[in-house]
Order: sequence, then C-alpha cells, then structure tokens
Amino acid sequence: MSALTSGFTHYTASSGIPELREAVANQARQDNGIPCMPENVIILPCKFGLYIAIQALINPGDEVILPDPGWVSYEPMINLAQGKPVSVRTYNKDEFRILPENIEKAITDKTKMIILNSPSNPTGSVSTHEDIKGIAKLAIEHDVIILTDEIYEKIIYEGRHYSIAAEDGMFERTVTVNGFSKAYAMTGWRIGWALAPKPIFDEMSKIQQHSISHCTSFVQKAAVSALTEKTESIDKMVSEFKARRDLVIKGLNEIVGISCFLPKGAFYAFFKFDFDMPSQEFTDILLEKGGLSMTPGSAFGPGGEGFVRMSYAASRENLKSGLEMLDDVVKTL
Ligand code: PLP
Repeated sequence: MSALTSGFTHYTASSGIPELREAVANQARQDNGIPCMPENVIILPCKFGLYIAIQALINPGDEVILPDPGWVSYEPMINLAQGKPVSVRTYNKDEFRILPENIEKAITDKTKMIILNSPSNPTGSVSTHEDIKGIAKLAIEHDVIILTDEIYEKIIYEGRHYSIAAEDGMFERTVTVNGFSKAYAMTGWRIGWALAPKPIFDEMSKIQQHSISHCTSFVQKAAVSALTEKTESIDKMVSEFKARRDLVIKGLNEIVGISCFLPKGAFYAFFKFDFDMPSQEFTDILLEKGGLSMTPGSAFGPGGEGFVRMSYAASRENLKSGLEMLDDVVKTL
C-alpha cells in the first residue's frame, strides 16, 4: 500500500527491483542451499518463468521429458516451442514420484530438458533426496538441462523439499521456478521468480524484456515484504492444510470403491476409483448428482486415467460435506 501511495507506480528494471532479487537470492541460498546470486534472479510470474525457460532453451525437435500425470501447462508450452514432449509415467505404488530409472529409459540423444515438479500438482507427491540425486546424476551424464517447478515447495507435511539446483554441479544446468502464489496466497498478484545460471538467464531476460517488460512495480515491493517480514502465517497455513489433508484422505479411504495414498505435499488428493468408466464420466456424474467439482485424472495425461484430483483448498466444514456427498453419489453407482 505504501508503495502505491508513495507513487512507486512506474517502470522498473526488467529483471526486477534490486531489493527483491536480493531477497529471493538470500532465501534460495538459506532455505534451499542453491548457490544463487541476485544477478541469477529474474522476477516474473511463475508460469511465465516456465514458459520463457522453454522458449529460450527448446529448439524444434528437441525432446523434453515431463511427468505423466503432470501439470496441464507443461505439454502445451513444449508444443509452442515446437519441442517434443516425452512423458514418463509415474505410478500410484510409488506415490507418483518420478523415478530416475524411468527417466533414464526415456533419455535419447535428442533429450534437451527434464521438467520436475515436487511437490506435484496434481498428485501431491514429493521427491526424496535419493530421487533428486539420481536425476541430477542422469542430467550430468547425459548433458541435460533441468527445469524444476517448485511452486509448492513450502507446502510439505512430512520430510522436506530438496532443490536439485543445490546438488553438486547442478546450478549451471538448472532453471528453478517458484513464486508467491501458493505459499503467500498471492495467486492474483502474478509474481514469482526464476533462478538461472548466467548464460540461460541472459536468454530468458531477452524474452522478458521484449514481452511483459517486468512485473508490476508496487507488487514487487509487496513481494519484498512477503519475503523479509517474517511471520508465522506460512506455518499456520501449512498446519491447517495438514489437518485438511488428514481429514480428506481418511474420508476418501472410508468410501467403498475409492482409495488414496497419503500425499506429502501440495493441497491435492489424487484418488483411485474402482468404477468401470473413464475419469471424465465419473467427474461429470459427481458434478451432476452431487454438485462436486473435481478434475478427471485424464486431464493430466494418460497416466491419470482411473484417478480423480480433489483439491482440499477449502474449509474443513465444506470438505466434510463434500466427502458425504461423494459417498452418497458413489453408493448410487
Ligand atoms: N506450476 C504448478 C504446478 C501450478 O500448479 C501452478 C498454478 O496452479 C503454477 C505453476 C503457476 O503458478 P503461478 O500462478 O504463480 O504462475
């Protein structure tokens, strides 16, 4: 607010205001062990960071490995750069973690990039340190760039988050994208950041300069406050999400024909249903008969068929009544 009233409403440097780049770099070093300096930071909306990293690095025909099921925008972004999306399946039995051995099978001499997303949307899976170390080893051996989407980093209930850019020899081949949307509940403010080694930073900066120019000036000031004025609000929010997760997973597993593993991060339950129909048909029925809005697993790739994504970013009261409605609808099938 004070940035607005003091007239901080004009252009800024394209990569962002210095104090925000510095605050982001400090946090990346302290919380994630990423050897990052302010000059490696571009301030941009998280989604745009993913988009320009792909635009800057992918040439027509380059192969990009991505998780299946995975977040809906990766594949279109790869297609827009005329790259070739190569899906790597993840499985319920592995809590949908993307495993190094499965990535290795998909690597060819055309592989340019691997996209990671832990904690994951849609599954809530969280990569272990072993997973991250295994993927880093592959990236170095095969000279591949990692694009890691860490937007749900702070929303973890068990274990911890490992940034692949912190592994030995990885900073120079990794673009880390993150933002304020989830941890700071600032979805509409359209601000986040990308961390990239200098040669990649320079290419991404060109796209930023000649497209959006920069993030909104006074929103950048608000983002500095979010990072530097330490509050307990993230911890409080995460413990509330944990209570909701426990309520939802218990409730889902009590419904006959539905089962769900315990996701360790994000705010999604990715549950399996045992009814003989596609996930799109199942979610249509949930909407029509129960007024329940859930996303069919197939929206996230063929590996999501047979599953449904339920968001628990809602009050416990609403989640309880939603679970009751789900049970009622399922009983009619
Ligand atoms: N990556 C994932 C996995 C997401 O779920 C989202 C938003 O839902 C984004 C990126 C985009 O984040 P933002 O809205 O901060 O650009």
